[in-house]
Amino acid sequence: MASILVSGHTTTTVPNGVTATLVNGKDDHLHTDGVDAPVPLTLELPNIFATLLPSTPLSEEESSKIAQEWLDKLSAILQTGAAPSTDELSSVLAHSIVPWWKDHLSLTWALRCAHGIPNITNLLAPVIPLRKPVAPALTKAIYIPMTGTLQFVQAQFDFETPLAKCKGVACLIPEQGVEEGDVAWRAWVVMTQMADLKGHEADAQRLKVPDEGGEEQEEVDVLIIGAGQSGLQLAAALRTLSFRALIVDRVTHVGDHWKRVYESFKLHLSKYYCQLAYLPWPESTPFFPKISDIANFLDQYAHELHLNVLLESEVKKAEFDKKKGSWNVPIRTGGTERTVRAEHLVFATGLSGYTPAMPNVPGKEIFKGEVMHSLDYRAGEKYKDKHAIVVGTACSGHDIAADLYRSGAASVTMIQRKATMVFAEKAFRAATGVMYNENGPPLEYADRLSEVMPNQLTKLLMAQYPPTEEYVVIEAGLEKRGFRLLERDLGHIIFERQGGHYLDVGCSQLIVDGKIGVKSGVPIKNFTESALAFEDGTELPADVIVFATGHNTLTMKEGIHKVVGAESAKGLKDIWGLDKEGHVKGVYRDNGVQNLWAAAGPFSFTRYNSKLLAMQIVASHFGLLQDRFDV
Ligand SMILES: Cc1cc2nc3c(=O)[nH]c(=O)nc-3n(C[C@H](O)[C@H](O)[C@H](O)COP(=O)(O)OP(=O)(O)OC[C@H]3O[C@@H](n4cnc5c(N)ncnc54)[C@H](O)[C@@H]3O)c2cc1C
Repeated sequence: MASILVSGHTTTTVPNGVTATLVNGKDDHLHTDGVDAPVPLTLELPNIFATLLPSTPLSEEESSKIAQEWLDKLSAILQTGAAPSTDELSSVLAHSIVPWWKDHLSLTWALRCAHGIPNITNLLAPVIPLRKPVAPALTKAIYIPMTGTLQFVQAQFDFETPLAKCKGVACLIPEQGVEEGDVAWRAWVVMTQMADLKGHEADAQRLKVPDEGGEEQEEVDVLIIGAGQSGLQLAAALRTLSFRALIVDRVTHVGDHWKRVYESFKLHLSKYYCQLAYLPWPESTPFFPKISDIANFLDQYAHELHLNVLLESEVKKAEFDKKKGSWNVPIRTGGTERTVRAEHLVFATGLSGYTPAMPNVPGKEIFKGEVMHSLDYRAGEKYKDKHAIVVGTACSGHDIAADLYRSGAASVTMIQRKATMVFAEKAFRAATGVMYNENGPPLEYADRLSEVMPNQLTKLLMAQYPPTEEYVVIEAGLEKRGFRLLERDLGHIIFERQGGHYLDVGCSQLIVDGKIGVKSGVPIKNFTESALAFEDGTELPADVIVFATGHNTLTMKEGIHKVVGAESAKGLKDIWGLDKEGHVKGVYRDNGVQNLWAAAGPFSFTRYNSKLLAMQIVASHFGLLQDRFDV
């Protein structure tokens, strides 16, 4: 989300959650000699003094000069090949704000984000002598005058290690230099990222040529369970690295599982933000892709990119052969079963697995109307002139309430248990649309820049996009109708709570206009014959009640346990939620179990992370994935 603009100054200090170089490698060497550094996690954005800012926006030439000078200092530190000291790093890292250094595989073989110069020193000291990064070369420098108090030069650079071609991005802010009146440009945020393994460089042209694999192979490098967008994008990323994967899914056609969702479903984010790597949506795809667009496109994706997908097949168990270092995976297709041996096993089975989470409301048996979970709701026509209740105020609840209203229900009332974060889709578009639009830059480039900012800063960055005047009116209208709004914190909601919010694509206005009712904060007591009764003694008559109360979110980890068994799953880390450095846990990274991986998340997240996981799998195969410095 680095394409988000930033301004202002807000500081939140939370208990220190950052430990320095705690190191761990599941299949390689273990490092446990990390040192904790007492740097509190300080969430703030730079607030630069006017006297330090350039009087006019810097030209490309001026920005390049600043970036090059900074890069020369970094080069000098790296050139020695020795562990950098705090003093050395202080010459390139910000003093006026606690700086960040994020690494995606290039130096640590892990997803890391150190905060503060002591922690950054602890992160870099063991890895610089080991990885030997050299030759940082500036590729681009852009001056980004975000606001009156936050302006920086974004330095984009390439560098190399003996193992990999890497990319770097640094956000340089002007600070007081040594002499009175001097300006020193130092990095507030640095991101280093592995872009390609040497000798195994990605080549998207490989996707155009069918491989010799096929669905009948008995031995594969990678077996992926799940042909949703996560499984498909990972298989494609592996193919660009000349690595074959077999995907297994129970569905009859790729994309079919989307058809289980209510008919009016559309993505709540634009098709530009939700692109898949390597193949654009067909031109006819609407701005918010519908179910049929998504399902058809996933099928097309699998065919056009020559991915091996075994359909109508299920994986119920997998056994790890410790001696051979590979998995034996029985695959059931129709009435037959065969066992495939795979070096790596990836679960791309979806975070929720479509398992309904339903509150246990007494009296369901006496209710004469229809009751269902949102997973069983199809369309609203059937409920024309009927009184409808939708329990739940996240994305599905809003979508279904709007569908019922538009289908002519006599009344629709949403039941809100607790305050809900509502975020105008247009505000999200304003924050991300610079990178993701019809004429946007290549996705890999856009995604890299969007990854630069630490996840911990998402809330502060999104706060720079306050609701428009028009939306302030909608928010006030919602509250007037009794709808309780939660403070906006998109990072928390997506990466930690895994949903429970509404990206407003139109339903909020229907609530404001009184077309959809709201009953908020009063617990449901029981069903009656013809209504839902509440703890405050009121009753809401209904012909149909839809529980849009979400899915069981533990399903993916539980699913892995079920398939590989307790012994093999020993040590499996949590899946989803943020680790103490702000990266999502358990997916696209070491998860504690040898040769087992998980792939999941929203389209943009899986798009970026698929290549990172593909590189880890390939590196592991060739014995290159050594000395992982993980949290
Ligand atoms: C209302 C709503 C709006 C949303 N809007 C957006 C949006 O705008 N943008 C966005 O990025 N995301 C959005 N999402 C989230 C999006 O739906 C998910 O992020 C996405 O579908 C996850 O893809 P996946 O490939 O990880 O999992 P899934 O799509 O769930 O695919 C998992 C696959 O695994 C298969 N499978 C599972 N277990 C097995 C097994 N044992 N054997 C064989 N096959 C198996 C399933 O059949 C399925 O095909 C939205 C979600 C909702 C509910």
